[in-house]
Amino acid sequence: MSHDLSSFRRQLHELQQQLPALLQSFLGREPLLPGSMYTLRRRCGKPTCHCARGELHASTVLSYRGQGRPQNITPPPEQVSTVQKLTDDYRQFRQARSQLLRLQRQVVELIDGIEAARVQEGERRFQKLRDSFPPHPRR
Ligand SMILES: [Zn+2]
Repeated sequence: MSHDLSSFRRQLHELQQQLPALLQSFLGREPLLPGSMYTLRRRCGKPTCHCARGELHASTVLSYRGQGRPQNITPPPEQVSTVQKLTDDYRQFRQARSQLLRLQRQVVELIDGIEAARVQEGERRFQKLRDSFPPHPRR
């Protein structure tokens, strides 16, 4: 139905408008580090330390899953923000990639819908034309 067609076309147009901003996130040059940062809170074990009373020591740990097996690495405090930026950029890149995959799937679904609607119209038009075709010559 043409009602479907215009709805599919409108949705496809909306997706088309999302694409440039999404692709922009892949055009950056920032280095990416596959990993994530988390805060580790723990006791050091000294019975007189404040951590024994519940004020745990906090350190920022990099969960690094680059080459080889995953590792937990504690960067020196002055490097934390640099490493954080690398992993943040990586996470954003991966999120954009997932978004792109979702968008791609939606686009293909819409395209299939558009194809079905347009084929239906084509068939209808062809049936009408066919009525006016001269009879098939016989040998
Ligand atoms: Zn302690």
